[in-house]
Amino acid sequence: MVQTRREFLKRTAALSAASYIGMSLPFSDSGIADAAVETTWHRGSCRLCGVGCRVELGVKNGIPVALRGVPESRTNFGYVCMKGMHFWKVMNHADRLTTPLYRARKTDTFKPVSWEKALEIAADKFASAVKEHGNNSVAYYGSGQALTEETYFFQKMFRGGLQTNNVEGNPRLCMASAVGGYLTSFGADEPIGGYADIEKADCIFIIGSNMAEAHPVIFRRVMRRKLDNPETTVINADPRISLTSRIADIHLQFKPGTDLALLNGMAHVIVKEKLYDKEFLGQYAVFKKGKKVSIDFSEYEKFLEDYSPEKVAKIMGGKVTPRQIREVSRKFATSRATLSFWTMGLNQRKQGVWANNLVHNLHILTGQLLKEGADSLSLTGQPNACGGVREGGGLCHILPGHRLVKKEKLRNQVEEAWGIPKGRIPPRPGYHTMAMFTAVNERKIKAMWINCTSPVQSLPNCNLYNRGMAADDTFIVCTDIFPTLTTQLAANLILPTAFHFEKTGVYGCTERRSQLTRKAIDPPKGAKPEVWIIREWGRKLAEKLDDPVIAQCIKPFEGLEEGYELPRAIWDEYSQKLTKGRDNDLRGATYDVLSKMYDGVQWPAPTEQYALTGGTVKKFVRGMDPMAETHRADDKKYQFYGPAHPDHKLWVWQRPQANPEEIPDAEYPFYLSTGRIIDHWHTMSMTGRVKELLRANPYSFVEVNPADARRMGIKPGDMVEITSRRGTNIMPAKVYEGPIEGMVFAYWHDQHPDRMINKVTKDAYDPGSKEPEFKICACKIRRVSGPKALKPYIV
Ligand code: SF4
Repeated sequence: MVQTRREFLKRTAALSAASYIGMSLPFSDSGIADAAVETTWHRGSCRLCGVGCRVELGVKNGIPVALRGVPESRTNFGYVCMKGMHFWKVMNHADRLTTPLYRARKTDTFKPVSWEKALEIAADKFASAVKEHGNNSVAYYGSGQALTEETYFFQKMFRGGLQTNNVEGNPRLCMASAVGGYLTSFGADEPIGGYADIEKADCIFIIGSNMAEAHPVIFRRVMRRKLDNPETTVINADPRISLTSRIADIHLQFKPGTDLALLNGMAHVIVKEKLYDKEFLGQYAVFKKGKKVSIDFSEYEKFLEDYSPEKVAKIMGGKVTPRQIREVSRKFATSRATLSFWTMGLNQRKQGVWANNLVHNLHILTGQLLKEGADSLSLTGQPNACGGVREGGGLCHILPGHRLVKKEKLRNQVEEAWGIPKGRIPPRPGYHTMAMFTAVNERKIKAMWINCTSPVQSLPNCNLYNRGMAADDTFIVCTDIFPTLTTQLAANLILPTAFHFEKTGVYGCTERRSQLTRKAIDPPKGAKPEVWIIREWGRKLAEKLDDPVIAQCIKPFEGLEEGYELPRAIWDEYSQKLTKGRDNDLRGATYDVLSKMYDGVQWPAPTEQYALTGGTVKKFVRGMDPMAETHRADDKKYQFYGPAHPDHKLWVWQRPQANPEEIPDAEYPFYLSTGRIIDHWHTMSMTGRVKELLRANPYSFVEVNPADARRMGIKPGDMVEITSRRGTNIMPAKVYEGPIEGMVFAYWHDQHPDRMINKVTKDAYDPGSKEPEFKICACKIRRVSGPKALKPYIV
């Protein structure tokens, strides 16, 4: 019997309680448990955060009915978090986009068009822009949630086909500073170790991260480690008391923007008390300041004199004592193994790269690196920011395989792999994210493709950039599964796409781990996988521009079936031709191998045989990392072969404390910080459509410290106006001792125009990484009324 959507939705509701605790119920067509119809379980990775949990989707009669963790997984050991457990419920949601929609002007109503017509329009608009305004008048803005095959294919078409490096993605907003930190401190992007270090660490230092809510399943491993080994010390440094800080042995609650002083203060104690690892430093490290100026240890030591615990405690606002700074420094240095975690609290800062450098400094100084349990591990936000965007060439300055656009030799390698003429890829990097949307505002971008992301809501100071996106001067294509604020405000053309498990492809999570998710069910009729869309669009583009090189870019993929063969051919081209010999060598991680390795493979993994062992747990260690032998510079145990450090050394950086771009003053006396909540994901276009998650947190609220609330006459639930120099929000107050006095905090998921906090945040960015400073700006607050009944808002 064919099941109607309504019947399905009713069953979904009945199932929700069971799926939340990981049970699966068999169903018959009438909605009653029926053992005769088997549920088939399909392994893949979670669609949501950068943890990369391994999950199984339960499918019955071609319809998703449940999701569970994979107990054998060494990543999540069968656990999934609340939002991970529920993500499959969006797959058959009534709001799924199932037909291309077009409007000539952004104030017009969308009308359905055929795929043929939609791709014709998209090709025509991009071709016209190139002919009339040049190659840099077109741009691609992608996502850390797109599959690697998708990001790789899009950037190939834009760089090799349309001859522009205007290729960017939302990972610029979340992990670009981590990339900058790894490159400048270790010489190579991405962490040395991984999650396996958690169970070996005796000191876990978490700074600028509420991992209990943003990376919950990995945080569970931290808690487990603490329970199994009570001697493990957990230190949390953060301006806000969060679920993470509640399990910490020591919480350092500091004034926003003073963390660089804390990290230098810790280095001060480590150096002053001679807690550093002299032998490790002598063999493997050098000291730097400024752009790349070499200094010696004594100059660094002199620089640190200015960061005594007494002075740093004052800078940090007075809640942290000098004794605590000494205590955490000693713990960090003397534990058997210390593991650090951080995320947006350090990355989304004007000094984001410096903050990353200063965490790495502590690990290099103390030798708390490379051994079991010790690592400096940046937690990535999105499921494929690392694999697709950092490794696959999804940012304006990088090509696939961690190659820099500006290096001719590396461009030529890519051109050769693609079989296109030398010199086809332009030598200059394109616009980074904030420059790209500034160019949209300035009407320099005439045609733009936005894939799987909603910049109308997620850019800082979004009102400013939304003006450009809403204007008719830029033709915008959006590929997505649901309507978003971006499709509604900015798109001329919406192309409906297949969702996770409705297509095949690879995600690469935080710890250099690539995982394959194979198609388990068909997408809704009318929705298409992005790789199909790119190929079909590319063929039309080649005709319109009469350009055989564009045709060459899609030639290897012509005629392939889009569910498996097409993404496999794209993955093969990328992994076999463009990661060979690179630090992210993925040649061994073929689809065949990844199909067998349900936990995926950690690169470098140059051969299939090696990949079948799981890959490289620790980079740079001889005997553990095959590249450490290939690139061996001497006989030492550790080989730092990263391309950014020709001296094969780790670099300890002299980086001073520096204020955020905007600090409170008489007019705007509060700090505003923003972040995630456990129940929702990014712009809520998915989790806002899962009623269990929406019910848990239907709208955003602003956290206000009780002392501030008393002063401002604000009671719990009162409506509070938050105003910065850029915009205003009004949302209910949550009064509790979370944020430090003088700071307010809001979640960024809410789509409602009055609660969209990025209207208020600031768009200043780190000069190196170009990552915006979402985490800190100045604002004022005032009570506008008592509690009001509010409704959730999803476009
Ligand atoms: Fe998915 Fe992240 Fe939750 Fe794991 S922790 S289930 S990857 S959202």
